[in-house]
Amino acid sequence: MFDWNDEHKQIRAMFRQFIRQEIAPQDDAMEAGEPPYAVMRKLTEMLGIRERVQKMLDRAARGESSGRLASQTDPYLAALLAIELSRQSPGFALAFGAALGLCGQTILRRGTLAQQQRWGAAVMCLDKIGCWAITEPDSGSDAFAMRTTAKKVGDGRYVLSGSKTFITNAPYADVLVVYAKLVIPGEEPGSRPPQAFVLERGMPGLSTGKPLEKMGMHSSPTGEIFLEDVEATREHLLGERESEPARGQVVDVFKGERTGVAHMCLGIIERVLEDSLAYAKARHTWGSPIASYQLVQEKLARMMIARSNVKNIVMKQLFAETNGVDISLAEASAQKLYCTRATTDVCLEAIQIHGGNGYMREYQVERFMRDAKLLQIGGGTDEIQILHVAQDLIANGLAS
Ligand SMILES: Cc1cc2nc3c(=O)[nH]c(=O)nc-3n(C[C@H](O)[C@H](O)[C@H](O)COP(=O)(O)OP(=O)(O)OC[C@H]3O[C@@H](n4cnc5c(N)ncnc54)[C@H](O)[C@@H]3O)c2cc1C
Repeated sequence: MFDWNDEHKQIRAMFRQFIRQEIAPQDDAMEAGEPPYAVMRKLTEMLGIRERVQKMLDRAARGESSGRLASQTDPYLAALLAIELSRQSPGFALAFGAALGLCGQTILRRGTLAQQQRWGAAVMCLDKIGCWAITEPDSGSDAFAMRTTAKKVGDGRYVLSGSKTFITNAPYADVLVVYAKLVIPGEEPGSRPPQAFVLERGMPGLSTGKPLEKMGMHSSPTGEIFLEDVEATREHLLGERESEPARGQVVDVFKGERTGVAHMCLGIIERVLEDSLAYAKARHTWGSPIASYQLVQEKLARMMIARSNVKNIVMKQLFAETNGVDISLAEASAQKLYCTRATTDVCLEAIQIHGGNGYMREYQVERFMRDAKLLQIGGGTDEIQILHVAQDLIANGLAS
């Protein structure tokens, strides 16, 4: 039986208490545009991230570490955190995941020790706010068609130009992992693969826009980055080597993002299912609770089936990760596709069960539906997941 063990349940109870005490009271303010970073900082303190990062850096300095945090040896903890955060605020979970998971972890895993110490640690502890930027106005699904360039202007010197959009945390980011295509004088433009640079707010020519207004995920600021001849040095090139394969880095990030989204889906489904069940028992029409009507029961049953399927996917992922089994990008894509569609469907059913109240802000299910819809777009759209699954199937057949 794949399920949480007693230790995980205790940790989950601790997360729930923190969320009840520290996040829930700030939820309305964050949804109204208050940046989530002060609360995120408290969360990193509760998780003891500063101490863990310091230990990791000490090990790295002794040549013993690969840049992975000790918490990752138990992937159940990160999953439980994403699930619990998403039960309260998927937007907060998104902003937290983008800062630590996308930006901080990319620097810790791929950066040199100096880069890990200079930027990775600060981002992981929320001393600095991090973002990870690949999407551009003219390239999203086809991210590698990016137009942002890093022109090499001397030994270890680059000039970056271009723009990024839809970047989580960008409006407030201090440390920005930005992908750009390397341009070398005398070589055909576009002949070199993109490279990741770690840039900092305050560098001349770098600016960000104000938070974009969006349908959901209001607790997660999203915005643009503008690069006008930003001068960077080799110290800003992630890994400090031009040969560092950025495509591989990005595929790793996509895989992590796609599996991580399943955790958010489980949190959202559990929350709206609990709310719907309670509402269906409490709400009466024609003298009976609506839960007694089979048309309502059918919705609850389908929501429960989605919850079971998504939980099984999450548990299988965690079992694989704990046992060192690598899941393919295609499998991660299949899981993301299933989980995100199921989550949007469940949220729509939850609104239906709540009737007119479901359409009102006071009842949270409409907010979860708006938040859930993003998960079918960010980290690769549904259509892109389908393409990855089909292409892998055609190339490799059934794996097992
Ligand atoms: C709230 C939010 C936060 C985000 N955070 C980040 C972030 O932190 N960092 C970052 O780099 N990016 C981020 N993104 C960007 C996100 O990853 C992209 O929006 C997403 O990959 C889709 O790209 P696009 O918006 O350019 O859509 P497009 O690529 O223009 O796609 C438009 C439509 O066409 C479809 N389509 C495109 N190509 C094909 C094809 N070959 N076959 C079939 N259908 C196709 C798509 O599926 C979609 O339905 C964020 C986006 C949002 C909305």
